Amino acid sequence: MPFYEYICGNCDHAFSLFLTYAEYDTAAVTCPDCGSDDVRRKIRPVRVTKGEKTRLRDVTEEAAGSNSSQMLGKVMRTIQENSGRELPPDTNEALTRLERGESPAEIDKDYK
Ligand SMILES: [Zn+2]
Repeated sequence: MPFYEYICGNCDHAFSLFLTYAEYDTAAVTCPDCGSDDVRRKIRPVRVTKGEKTRLRDVTEEAAGSNSSQMLGKVMRTIQENSGRELPPDTNEALTRLERGESPAEIDKDYK
């Protein structure tokens, strides 16, 4: 079953829903926090299949094993600090996540 992530345009509450495709077409999605229908889908539907899980785990293990995310984050942070310029909040958040060791693929998914 596809899995959808929504964010409320009224209170910024993020929530997740499991919907069938038929439900997705007809469902009136409202924010569970404030009841607003001003919600938008955050990311594309994610179907978790065996292959997908394996791929994700491989990516995660690869990043953890090589510390490549943290290395990349560190390099980008160094460049940013040397430039003396502020990063846009989105970019800064992505960079912070990289530094925490999250994989670029995971972070990238949240910004589409
Ligand atoms: Zn809300």
